[in-house]
Amino acid sequence: MQAHGFSKPLLKVEKLTKFFGPNQALNEVSFELFPGEVLAIVGESGSGKSTLLNCINSNIDFDKGQVHFQSQALGSVNMGELSEVNQRLIKRTEWGFVHQNARDGLIMNVSAGANIGERLMSLGHRHYGKIRATAIESLAEVEIDANRIDDLPLNFSGGMQQRLQIARNLVTHPRLILMDEPTSGLDVSVQAKLLDLLKRLTQNRGLAVLIVTHDLAVARLLADQMMVMQNGKVIESGLTDQILDDPQHPYSQLLVSSILQN
Ligand code: ADP
Ligand code: MG
Repeated sequence: MQAHGFSKPLLKVEKLTKFFGPNQALNEVSFELFPGEVLAIVGESGSGKSTLLNCINSNIDFDKGQVHFQSQALGSVNMGELSEVNQRLIKRTEWGFVHQNARDGLIMNVSAGANIGERLMSLGHRHYGKIRATAIESLAEVEIDANRIDDLPLNFSGGMQQRLQIARNLVTHPRLILMDEPTSGLDVSVQAKLLDLLKRLTQNRGLAVLIVTHDLAVARLLADQMMVMQNGKVIESGLTDQILDDPQHPYSQLLVSSILQN
């Protein structure tokens, strides 16, 4: 997308293509994401945004294309060619995934602390006291009071559930987080606070983030770079401010003039 000196892309997606039966959900999507960069993927409902994230995260198989990741533990890897064990290792340590619906990213009937601890235990951590202390730190980072550590996510508000999902992801210090509409469905004031938190976390931690949103204000606030999708294709990409202020593609122009926002 841009010149980044000598740094290598953290994530490099090449010609990702996905069909659901005759319906092409992704049409040769390619992009690069550099360390610490936030890239927003925007487009109307059905344009392929969630499918793109799910293919990158190996949640669903794709038909063509490649997903390269610069792993700290394993070096440069092609996610599609990794063993399941190594794929899982990367997804549990160096990557995070924040789902649109908290119930897809949390275990709703075990405590908040256990939701965070589970990610550590899956990596072999066994010391109960240390896991609990780490969970408390993680909760603090997303501004959840420590006295809620034994509460079930079921009893959390929507905004708190999203915070807990984020805490669970952050506990292993990932360098890349994929987020699918993390603030949609929340009240406007709750949304604003969550966005502030996300902004702060990505900046403080130098996180690379791939965030799907249909809300251009979210893209404007969080993302350096932006990619506009239509019918499974990237039709425009570049600096967020540039695209929002001066969209080139007719579809981006419609999107920005808010006719297509939903
Ligand atoms: P977005 O997240 O941008 O709203 P999606 O990635 O969910 O879009 O969907 C892209 C296209 O793929 C849509 O036409 C949708 O109907 C189709 N699609 C998504 N998931 C499935 C699925 N599991 N089975 C069949 N079609 C799907
Ligand atoms: Mg979606």
